[in-house]
Amino acid sequence: MNTTSLPCKELFSIPSHLVYLDGNSLGPPLRGSAELAAHVVNEEWGRELINAWNTEDWMSLPVTVANQIAPIIGAPQDSISAGDTLSIKAYQALAAAIQMRPNRQIVLSDSGNFPTDLYIAQGLIDLIDKSHKLRTPPPEEVLDNITEEVAVVYLTHVDYRTGRMHDMKAITEKAHQVGAVTIWDLAHSVGAVPLELQESQTEFAVGCTYKYLNGGPGAPAFIYVRPDIVTSIDPAIAGWMGHKSPFAMSLKYDPVHSVERFRIGTPSVVQFKLLQLALKVWQTLDMKEVRKRSVHLSKLFIDEIESRCPALTLTSPRSSAMRGSQVSFSYANAYSVIQALSDQGLIGDFREPNIMRFGITPLYLDEGDITRAAQILEQVVSDETWRRPQYEVRKTVT
Ligand SMILES: *Cc1c(COP(=O)(O)O)cnc(C)c1O
Repeated sequence: MNTTSLPCKELFSIPSHLVYLDGNSLGPPLRGSAELAAHVVNEEWGRELINAWNTEDWMSLPVTVANQIAPIIGAPQDSISAGDTLSIKAYQALAAAIQMRPNRQIVLSDSGNFPTDLYIAQGLIDLIDKSHKLRTPPPEEVLDNITEEVAVVYLTHVDYRTGRMHDMKAITEKAHQVGAVTIWDLAHSVGAVPLELQESQTEFAVGCTYKYLNGGPGAPAFIYVRPDIVTSIDPAIAGWMGHKSPFAMSLKYDPVHSVERFRIGTPSVVQFKLLQLALKVWQTLDMKEVRKRSVHLSKLFIDEIESRCPALTLTSPRSSAMRGSQVSFSYANAYSVIQALSDQGLIGDFREPNIMRFGITPLYLDEGDITRAAQILEQVVSDETWRRPQYEVRKTVT
């Protein structure tokens, strides 16, 4: 198959007056998404009604889609289960990992982890009530904290705020040396950086598909489980879709002998279809090329911003080898600046306490977009446009 050359903007539907540097938070729709959703509603659901589960093969969507995700993260076929949300998949992975090390009490994460990951862990620890402890050292100190007390190393690979990337290989190796289980959250890695999950030997990985994979708001999440351990795990949240034979309606839970045991309930059909469309483009992309373009555009962005806006401080690692596919700067009035940028046609986002975050997504960004973004940012900062009172008002979603 021919590889798609980058950028491939024409495949996406993005308002032409915008520079969209927020694809790390919510990717844009592929062209044809609206027509596809309408087709599913009108022609499949609307005409076939409940028969569509069979006639349109809706029930196998989670398997088909999981196998489309696999090559993007270096995982073998049938090692991923798709569905639910990332928070739920993290819960399932952590519950399984804790059970795998019954004599250890430490769950090791880091202080840069995304809040939901930490809330899920603490909530689970409280529920289990067996003296587990969640440890959250600074990201730089994780490696030194991997000791024989640790049951699970539970980390987000690329920091959602700074874009700092953990050394997955070194951390996984050290964890395994001391007998700990690893879970990698790939929210900001899948579709952003090349991954070799199978090679890494990690037991678990989880991720979402609405960020760099462009699956749309509410798109299904996924969990990877190392194939040799799948059937030894009783998944937390034992749902009927993980049963060997869901429609036998048996009173006893008997999980299927595959990663599909991590399925829980009825799949979100329309979302799966939209994700499937978005994943098509990845079949013809070379992840190494995506990374090369991401590094190039990120460097250009950093150079442009640092020369035009000296008041901003780079909070992402300067070394591209230690950075995912986003660039963050701190600035005292970051929130207002992000609001003002939006009115000027540049979409980035704000993260507490004072971080401006910009996603560098090479599928639909080129050098011209990066330069334009830098010009807009320079203007908003130097004109102090951000001082207008309307830009101080906090919105529900930032
Ligand atoms: C985006 C993100 C989430 C979001 O979880 P949802 O269940 O999809 O809301 C969780 N963890 C990390 C690290 C993220 O970046």
